[in-house]
Amino acid sequence: MEVISLPNRRPTKQIMVGDVPVGGGSPVSVQSMTTTKTSDVEETLKQIYDLAAAGADIVRCTCNDLAAAEGLAHIVPRSPVPIVADVHNQYKMALAAIASGVDCLRLNPGNIRKVEHIKAVAMEAGEKGIPIRIGVNGGSLHPDLYKKYGDTVTPEAMVESALNELEYFQDVGFDMVKISVKASSVPLMVEAYRQLSSVTDYPLHLGVTEAGPPPEGLIKSTAGIGTLLMEGIGDTIRYSLTADPVEEARAGRKLLESLGLRELQNVDLIACPSCGRAEVDVYALAEEAQKVFATKKLPLQIAIMGCVVNGPGEARGADLGIAAGNKRGHLFVQGRNVAVVEESEMVEALVEWAEYIVEHGVDAALERVDLEKAEKEAEKDREKLLMDQGDDVNHGSQKVELIRKI
Ligand code: SF4
Repeated sequence: MEVISLPNRRPTKQIMVGDVPVGGGSPVSVQSMTTTKTSDVEETLKQIYDLAAAGADIVRCTCNDLAAAEGLAHIVPRSPVPIVADVHNQYKMALAAIASGVDCLRLNPGNIRKVEHIKAVAMEAGEKGIPIRIGVNGGSLHPDLYKKYGDTVTPEAMVESALNELEYFQDVGFDMVKISVKASSVPLMVEAYRQLSSVTDYPLHLGVTEAGPPPEGLIKSTAGIGTLLMEGIGDTIRYSLTADPVEEARAGRKLLESLGLRELQNVDLIACPSCGRAEVDVYALAEEAQKVFATKKLPLQIAIMGCVVNGPGEARGADLGIAAGNKRGHLFVQGRNVAVVEESEMVEALVEWAEYIVEHGVDAALERVDLEKAEKEAEKDREKLLMDQGDDVNHGSQKVELIRKI
């Protein structure tokens, strides 16, 4: 299958969030945010580990009081990924977070407003080599800008907010910056990021804020973040879902993999939508496979197809797949039939073949069977099904005959 690449990513400066490079052509990173009290060190660390396992490269924790800042001092050295402290309103919390040793700060220009406070934080962060995200949020825009743009949130107002903050930073020689201009409206955030990207080369953190619970939140986030990534805009992303943050990390990772911006980390499961030809409960089979593969690190595309008539051909591009036929499953590797197994053993067989391919490669997998024999056996089932079902699997012609007799 031809591999189509996305248009070139827009060149940006690079900053380091801990050991994760952001911008400057580095891989687009996935972020998420803990929902625990940051002062609860053990619970927060447990969630950070879960997020890292699900694909998060960077995790943000709120730093809303001194107990949270003290928690960060214990969390940061034990975290598997860099930690960003999220600070609103109190600039002193930003200073406390810097003292705790975090890898990055997130400041909202809409609610830390005194210029001397902003500059004090930037100077301290600069001394410690800690980058800052300027996190503009459409819902908490600086009141002056809100007023200036006609008591409404516009892309221009959001971009101006980010640039004003950037100017304060630049006044004190601080430039380890990434920027976000999030909004809950997809068209608004897309336009704000487009405008921002045309006037700055600082790395951009993408997100649709308050996107809501899945599936709506997933759809909105994917529409906004995906659109921008397809245009080459964006260096790090976060899904903001009203759900377990592990879902955010998984979704972010999956989006990047599906756009070819990150390598597969785990199985990419594809499955047909099922139809009248299906010889098996495709939904149940796909769900079972999803569960079994969820805990295995097997970077392969695996297809679950409901029938042997169209399945193997349609999933030719997959590394490995199975198509149901005549109560048996036809296993195929890159479109070549390799084995026919009982229906009850289909998932087990997929796992065994997937592990073999990851360990030994596709060629070795194809060599371990008699391909001619496997093809003949599969062909027998295919022919039988075609004879049984023909082209008119839903018996449409018979129904039409009946209708005509009414
Ligand atoms: S693979 Fe077979 S069962 Fe699945 S949608 Fe296609 S024709 Fe229908």
